[in-house]
Amino acid sequence: MTQGSFTVVWDPRFLEYDFGPDHPFTEAFHEFAVRLFESTLTPAERTRVDWNRTVEPATSATLLTFHDEGYVSFVRTASSSRMPLLLDSLDTPAFPGCFEASARIVAGTEWAVRRAIEQGGVVFAPAGGLHHAGPGRASGFCVFNDVAIGIAAALESHRRVAYVDIDAHHGDGVMYGFYQDGRVLDIDFHQDGRTLFPGTGRVTEVGEGDGAGLKVNLPLLPDTGDEALLSLARRLLPPLLEGFRPDLVVVQHGLDSHWGDPLAQLQFTPHGYDEFDRLLIRLASRFGGRIVVTGGGGYLARSVTRALARVGRQFAGFETLPDQDLLPDLWRADFADRFGKPAPTHWVDSPHLRVSSWGAEREERLVAELEKALGRSFPVSVGSEAER
Ligand SMILES: [Zn+2]
Repeated sequence: MTQGSFTVVWDPRFLEYDFGPDHPFTEAFHEFAVRLFESTLTPAERTRVDWNRTVEPATSATLLTFHDEGYVSFVRTASSSRMPLLLDSLDTPAFPGCFEASARIVAGTEWAVRRAIEQGGVVFAPAGGLHHAGPGRASGFCVFNDVAIGIAAALESHRRVAYVDIDAHHGDGVMYGFYQDGRVLDIDFHQDGRTLFPGTGRVTEVGEGDGAGLKVNLPLLPDTGDEALLSLARRLLPPLLEGFRPDLVVVQHGLDSHWGDPLAQLQFTPHGYDEFDRLLIRLASRFGGRIVVTGGGGYLARSVTRALARVGRQFAGFETLPDQDLLPDLWRADFADRFGKPAPTHWVDSPHLRVSSWGAEREERLVAELEKALGRSFPVSVGSEAER
């Protein structure tokens, strides 16, 4: 499906972004996703994937394109401290080397953005997606905001960026970071902030100044699944992207919106992500097809690893593998070793879903609120697989 090139950014040193064995966030899930992606490529597919496996930490100058000087110095100091320190007031601890580890992830996403701009095509940067960090603070397991810095790099070269975030948590760091910026369209599907961290992302938060009308928040109640994601995406993404005409689409593809995630209660499935991703690729192709796909949250190893490897295949334009295809033995053995749990045997499990309260009435109410907040109207609900 994708016409241009496909590049993966994965430096094994991204694993150094590590809050310790008892913390829910780990880049190890992303590593196992990359390994699964790579080990299931056919020889022909293998020749169509480029890799960047060596990424040096971003410089302070790069970090300062989004973060405050005082905060960057604070992280640098905390990084070399022997004292246990928290970088935010909650659950983002400092650890030895946290400055370099965070700056390396920033550099990966920034490189991905520059590569997509210069060469076109899709760049997959699964270590990135740390969307909560603000200019002067860490937040929600995010030390530096790699996606915001990537977007800043695109703006520097006069590009218009559509940022699409389907992590269960609202991407507050990115949205507020560009709240007044008319060059960034921000579309964020997330679990309703009244029920989940960070509590932001109300429909009425639409941007200010030049950014007014360009921040689009789609809060979903717990237990909402593909039916909402896909119906809203088919209805809203085409007019929003057509109206904005982005030069680059940056996707935060957090997998904590996957059903069964222990930290959030949305219920998207791998098939839902497939269709969402295909729609996004199709739309982006109308504006040059430059896409950067990052990872993000996701707290269940068996879901994140497989679903994110699948996301890689989608954006690479490779055929979706059958749900029942067996996963490689070596990958499964390493998974069991690393996570201390039996590895999944095949690509997709039958989902165990709770009853969703989503329906036509709720959708109309959300779209009506959105229309009022944005001062524009959207088409009526469109059918499935709308190839338009
Ligand atoms: Zn999240």
